[in-house]
Amino acid sequence: MSVNLIHRLEVLRTERLTPGMVRVVFGGDGLDGFVSTGVGDEYLRIFFPLDQRGEPTLPFATDDGHWDYPEGVEPAPMRTYTVRGWNEASRELTIDFVVHDGGVAAAWALAVQAGDVVGVNTPRALYDPPADITWQLLVADATGLPAAARLAENAPAGVRTRIVVEVASPAHEQPIALSDGAELHWVHGGNGHGPTRIEEIVRAADLPSEPGYVWVAGETKATRGIRRLFRHELRLPPTAYKIVGYWTENAEQWRERYDALSEADQDRLAAMWDDDSRAIEDIEDDYEAELEKLGL
Ligand SMILES: Cc1cc2nc3c(=O)[nH]c(=O)nc-3n(C[C@H](O)[C@H](O)[C@H](O)COP(=O)(O)OP(=O)(O)OC[C@H]3O[C@@H](n4cnc5c(N)ncnc54)[C@H](O)[C@@H]3O)c2cc1C
Repeated sequence: MSVNLIHRLEVLRTERLTPGMVRVVFGGDGLDGFVSTGVGDEYLRIFFPLDQRGEPTLPFATDDGHWDYPEGVEPAPMRTYTVRGWNEASRELTIDFVVHDGGVAAAWALAVQAGDVVGVNTPRALYDPPADITWQLLVADATGLPAAARLAENAPAGVRTRIVVEVASPAHEQPIALSDGAELHWVHGGNGHGPTRIEEIVRAADLPSEPGYVWVAGETKATRGIRRLFRHELRLPPTAYKIVGYWTENAEQWRERYDALSEADQDRLAAMWDDDSRAIEDIEDDYEAELEKLGL
């Protein structure tokens, strides 16, 4: 079981990278013992305070790699973010926040000041290409931009890397330090401002026949369509791609519809993940098919 620790972080400084993104650099003694995977899309949970300038209620790490709160303690609001940068020497952790309308995390990032405090857990990564790849395609919207940028900066030597990032408009583009053999394309739209094109982009991509890897992060409905493409239409092995839903458009309506499901449907959906005998991709498939049947 990998280590899981809870860290208390203090905001050292902030920077408005683009109209839609705020960079926050964290530090403090709470980063003692922080363990990075070193992988570009590593993500962690951020535990937010109820008041912007207050202390978050931090959970304790449990032995099974999760976290918990003492009985009667109200859990802190929690959201998932990518480690955009980790500087081991200065012990500084950088996270880039998309600042959209609504949302605990986006509102926190819009109001953030040096000295503000959050909690985080130990990061985990998802990007896991086979050793023999000669090319990779990284496609993301703004939420996946921090991960795509870090993956592109650390692209393995000799691997042709193509990155396509969908941001709301040209003003939301930002410099990315590409490794040799990497090419970057910006497309405009999506991100809650209009229909996302990431599924269309992936479908139109001319994938070389040599061993390669496709990594996609974006809005959940779009990533669902892309996973269907790879798994059922192209029948690629699960090791050839990683497709991750990073956020849900109109999440409140989705949540209302989920909460309106019968208790039996909710229990059935939750129980699907408990079957240790099945591959996670098969469970994911059936879970998503069930959600679609239920109109979610
Ligand atoms: C593995 C992983 C890594 C991630 N890394 C990052 C990261 O580095 N940076 C980052 O900004 N996000 C990242 N995300 C996405 C982030 O977790 C979600 O966008 C999250 O919902 C934001 O929380 P919130 O409290 O701001 O909004 P919520 O309370 O979740 O939602 C409030 C409202 O905002 C809408 N909304 C949520 N996110 C967006 C968005 N991006 N654009 C437009 N509308 C939105 C919802 O539909 C809802 O209507 C990551 C997600 C995952 C799963």
